[in-house]
Amino acid sequence: MNLDALWMPFSANKTFKQNPRILTSAQGMYFTDDKGRQILDGCAGLWCVNAGHGNERITQAIAEQSKKLDFAPFFNMSHDIGFKAAERLVEMAPKGFDKAFFTNSGSESADTSLKIALAYHAARGETGRVKFIGREKGYHGVNFGGTSVGGIGGNRKAFNHLLPFVDHIRHTLDIERNGFSKGLPAYGAEWADELENRIFTLHDPKSIAAVIIEPMSGSAGVIVPPQGYLQRIRDICTKHGILLIFDEVITGFGRTGGDWATNTMGVTPDILNCAKGLTNGTVPMGAVLVGNEIYNTVVDAAPEGAIEFAHGYTYTAHPLACAAAIATLDVYRDEGLFERAGQLAPKFEQAAHSLKGLPFVKDIRNIGLVAGIELETSAEGLGKRAGLVQQKCYEAGVLMRLTGETLALSPPLIVNEAQIDQIFSTIGEAVKAVA
Ligand code: PLP
Repeated sequence: MNLDALWMPFSANKTFKQNPRILTSAQGMYFTDDKGRQILDGCAGLWCVNAGHGNERITQAIAEQSKKLDFAPFFNMSHDIGFKAAERLVEMAPKGFDKAFFTNSGSESADTSLKIALAYHAARGETGRVKFIGREKGYHGVNFGGTSVGGIGGNRKAFNHLLPFVDHIRHTLDIERNGFSKGLPAYGAEWADELENRIFTLHDPKSIAAVIIEPMSGSAGVIVPPQGYLQRIRDICTKHGILLIFDEVITGFGRTGGDWATNTMGVTPDILNCAKGLTNGTVPMGAVLVGNEIYNTVVDAAPEGAIEFAHGYTYTAHPLACAAAIATLDVYRDEGLFERAGQLAPKFEQAAHSLKGLPFVKDIRNIGLVAGIELETSAEGLGKRAGLVQQKCYEAGVLMRLTGETLALSPPLIVNEAQIDQIFSTIGEAVKAVA
C-alpha cells in the first residue's frame, strides 16, 4: 500500500508510516485489520460509534437515501429529510431545546455556537458582549473559534494568532484530592467561583458573550466535573446574563450513562453542541441546539425577507447525514441503548477501578461508559508510557484512545460484560508488561 499521498490528521506521520495500523472493516464491537485480526473497539471509533459498527438499519437508511436524493441545496431551499432529522433530534433533546442548527462536525458546532451567542446578544442590542470564556484543558475542535476557546496547550501553541477576546478559567483535575474517585469527584466545586472572580477582575461581566465548557472533558483525559461545579457555573452565567454553552460532542447520546450529560448531571445550558454519536459516526454531522427564546430573538431582529443568521455550510443537513441521524436516533430508542449504558455503568466502573494498585497507575476516573486510566509519566516524556501500553493492547486485540498519559475507554453502548472484562484485563496485562 502506498502511504505517501496522505497527510494524516493529529498523527505522527513519519512514525506512523513506518509501522502503520490499518483497519479494513468493522462489525458490531469489532474492527478487522489488514492482517485479518479482530480488534475489540474500546473507544467507539473516536467516541462516536455508540450503537456499534455496521448497524443494518443505519447503513440501509444511508444507502436508500443516496439513491433517492443524494444532495440538495439548503440555503433558502430545503428537503423533507432535513426537517425530519431536526424534529427527531429536538424530540430527544433535553427539555427546552426547540431548534437544531446542523453542522458537519463537532468543530463546526463549536464555532457555530459561538457565532449564535454573538448574534443573540447583538439582536438584543448588547453589542458589547463579544468575549468568550473557555477552560484550560478544554477541547472544542480545531477551527479557529474552537481552538481559541480550547485549552489544550499543544493544540494552541503552534498557532500564535488565535481569536482575541478569549479568556480561560482553570480545569478541574485535582488528583491529589480526588484521585481514584468514582463518578463525580467530591472536591473542587469552588473552582467555579474563579469564573466570577475573573470576569470582575479582568473583564466587565457585560463584555462576556458566553462561557463554553464540556460537561466532562474527554480529549484532555476524561476529567469528570466535581459535584456542584456545573451548577455554580450555571448560576454565575445566569446572574450576569452570560450564555452557557455545553459542548456535548462526546457526552451526548448515552455516553455518561443517560441520554445527555445535561440530564445525567442535572444542569441545563443555554446552547448545546453535539456531533459524533448523532449519526453513529457513519456520515459527518453535528448540531447546535437552542431554545425558542434564542432562535426567536435572532430571527425576529431581522427585517422580513432578510437572512437572519449569515452562517451555514454547503453540507448543512446533508441528506445522507439526515438519513443516518434519523436511523441512529431510532436505533438508540428502540434498542434502549442509553438505558443499557446506565445499567452497565456500575460494572464498567468496577472493572476500571480494578486496575488500581498496578504499577504506575496514577489515577482512574469514570462516569457512565467512559473511563480514563492515567499513568505516571516516565522520564522519556509525556505519553510515552501510556503509548507503549496502548500499542501492547492493540497487539493483544483491544483498541483505545490515548490522550497525554491517559488511556481513554468509551466502548460502543452495545458492549457486553465479557468484553468489558476483556478491555480492562488486557490493559492490566499491558501495564504489568510495560512496568
Ligand atoms: N468538541 C468536543 C468536546 C470533542 O470531543 C470534539 C472531538 O473530539 C470536538 C468538539 C470536535 O469534533 P470534530 O472532530 O468532529 O470536529
